Amino acid sequence: MLKLRLLNAVAPVYFFTATAVTFIFHFCFFIPTIFPKPDTSLRGSTTLHTAVFLFFMFNALGNYVMTIRYPAESANQTAVPVCWPNCSDKVDAHYLLNGRHFCKLCKKVILKRDHHCFFTGNCIGNKNMRYFIMFCIYTSCTCLYSLVLGVAFLTVEYSISFENPLTFLTLLPLSTGYFFMGTVSGLQLFLVLMLYVWLGIGLVCAGFCCQQVLLVARGQTWCQLQRGELQDSRSPWQSNLKDVFGTRWILGLIVPVQTVETCSEDADAHKQD
Ligand SMILES: [Zn+2]
Repeated sequence: MLKLRLLNAVAPVYFFTATAVTFIFHFCFFIPTIFPKPDTSLRGSTTLHTAVFLFFMFNALGNYVMTIRYPAESANQTAVPVCWPNCSDKVDAHYLLNGRHFCKLCKKVILKRDHHCFFTGNCIGNKNMRYFIMFCIYTSCTCLYSLVLGVAFLTVEYSISFENPLTFLTLLPLSTGYFFMGTVSGLQLFLVLMLYVWLGIGLVCAGFCCQQVLLVARGQTWCQLQRGELQDSRSPWQSNLKDVFGTRWILGLIVPVQTVETCSEDADAHKQD
């Protein structure tokens, strides 16, 4: 349990550090280097790239805040189950009844719990799943977009050609070697490292997002999947998606706003039953 609590404290710090580093790289290195002279021909490109990056970042951070602001906990239940002596440290939540879980990290009863997200430090359930999925989508977009601009920066600033696909694969080992030989600066090595971080986070978030959308469409949660309860949902997939994404889902795709009318917990619980 100590490891999980530590992860719960470290993951948000990692997220904000990576966000700050991405911001700095964009506005201090990528934009000024790739578009050096803001004359009439480049002014449009500079504005467009800045707007796209800020749009991705605004939605990623906005949905991050919304995930925390609309937690998945039950307002009516505060029951704390007592752990039995043999309770595994790896178990982060206890199943109660009617789709409710008690999360040992949040110390709250969670409605229709999916999983505990360490980056937000909150449980993800029916109430905040839509924000969490949008957070994953826009985090993936931000990272992959940063990767593209990072590659463009290396091409412009250090004349590295990425025409050969193997260049990217050998970039980190070669840069590390050249760094210790003194021919590559620490900043350049750090940027190369960030390229791999952006690629990793971008792909993981995209894959995770696809899995969550499929589960939502099936009317299932990750907790149910782990318990082997992946039976066919009684509701059609359109209804399951609407239940999570709300009626104003198109608005939720472009701005981090509440897209579903607040319904009572009893209605949620009955749906789960
Ligand atoms: Zn939790």
